Amino acid sequence: MTTPVYQNFINGDFLKNQSGETFAVKNPATDEVIYHVEVADSFVQNAAIESAKQGFAVWSAMAPIERSRILLKAVALLRERNDLLAKIEVLDTGKPWQEAECVDVQTGADVIEYFAGLAPAQVGQQQMVGEDFFYTRKEPLGICAGIGAWNYPLQIACWKSGPALAAGNALIFKPSEETPLGAIKLAEIFTEAGVPAGVFNVVQGAAEVGQWLTHSPDIEKVSFTGEVGTGKKVVASAAGTLKDVTMELGGKSPLLVFEDADISQAVSAAMLGNFYTQGEICTNCTRIYVHKSVYQQFIDELKTRTEQNIVAGDPLDPSVNFGALISKNHHNLVMGYIEKGINEGATLLTGGKALRPESAPNGYFVAPTVFTDCTDDMTIVKEEIFGPVMSVLVFEDEDDVIRRANDTHLGLAAGVFTKDIKRAHRVIHQMQAGICWINSYGNSPAEMPVGGYKQSGIGRENGIETLDHYTQTKSIYVGMTDIESPF
Ligand code: NAD
Repeated sequence: MTTPVYQNFINGDFLKNQSGETFAVKNPATDEVIYHVEVADSFVQNAAIESAKQGFAVWSAMAPIERSRILLKAVALLRERNDLLAKIEVLDTGKPWQEAECVDVQTGADVIEYFAGLAPAQVGQQQMVGEDFFYTRKEPLGICAGIGAWNYPLQIACWKSGPALAAGNALIFKPSEETPLGAIKLAEIFTEAGVPAGVFNVVQGAAEVGQWLTHSPDIEKVSFTGEVGTGKKVVASAAGTLKDVTMELGGKSPLLVFEDADISQAVSAAMLGNFYTQGEICTNCTRIYVHKSVYQQFIDELKTRTEQNIVAGDPLDPSVNFGALISKNHHNLVMGYIEKGINEGATLLTGGKALRPESAPNGYFVAPTVFTDCTDDMTIVKEEIFGPVMSVLVFEDEDDVIRRANDTHLGLAAGVFTKDIKRAHRVIHQMQAGICWINSYGNSPAEMPVGGYKQSGIGRENGIETLDHYTQTKSIYVGMTDIESPF
């Protein structure tokens, strides 16, 4: 059977490359190639820049409320095509339909809707200085680039295009080479909604195409989502042309469960924050610190619920709630971490092995895994695994657990479970993390800014401030009096 070949999406349409180079995309749940994609060669790259320049000229000259109306049409189309798009995400990522059907497309559409609403509300300032005055304009940056990870492909494309386009920029987006189709579908939707040609181009490929975006002199900003190591390369490369950067990187986030917490709720949060999307979420609370007095109760309930309630299998089956990891490579990497956990002396409470569900025997499944008796110096406690591997640790003292939780170069997220309202805020205010939850975990509405402290990121996505990150301020001084000059 022949599989489809997708081209790059440039200037409002598909564009064939000249090199003829393609890459294959596999369904992680079946290990089968499902389609091929053309790599953006230099012909496509040049076309992407040229059309983005033209698209930018048209789009940035439009009244913001007009841009807003067009983006809202795209939002309606995204919602209308929810199931079709969700299925693409399931086949590309291996995540369960149960999740994609109600999260991936909707949270993407929400963000575009949010920024479409804000676009006409952005205003400059005016101030008198004596009889003269100045005013400021919020102007778009020009051509921006977005580079995405593979865990929430369509959502990431929406989170980057929403504010970029609302502010009047053009965006060249490169999805992960593991999950390239969702962004193409978004490009089709933008075009159908009336976004002018060239305003949202999709270029395809791996690191080399990403690198081109980071050093192209025609690109003003790079918004990147991916690993810390890649993020550092992107920042270094972007420095060559002094591009603005936004970095949404990895994490190793702590969840603190105090003795007065609702333990069932805390277990729910720990499971969501480690097993949702089979553990492939950047904000996951992979270090769970549990107060000694409730430790046994916590791990007993955690073990029971993990073993009884998680259903791995064909991700398209609506009863399945746990999918396959993105690739064979990643599967091996996660299994390697599990082996390290065992070798370094952690106790395997449950999981710890590859799975071969009957309905998806060739998929890259790893069982939901919980390690107990973990110590802070273990590799599984220190490094981001990006899979369904939870480490549980014990604590007794509040100050001590805060110090331990912060003892990492990462700072993406953190959570605390306690019924003591003062402690909840006192503790969370001391967490060195950009995204924090009290008696909750993982929710990320469009209105809430998200991003990392320390090496987990630079800048923010979502929330009002993000629109500012896609504009630059122009100050205009107006002389109302004669110029005083010694010449
Ligand atoms: P990755 O860093 O391997 O790849 C991300 C993207 O960068 C891909 O599109 C890839 O092709 C591209 N790329 C690779 N090398 C490049 C280079 N030298 N220059 C420019 N682009 C390059 O990350 P991944 O494996 O796709 O995603 C998993 C990682 O993403 C995890 O670390 C996870 O924590 C992180 N993540 C963070 C967030 C967040 O919002 N903070 C969200 C999702 C994922």
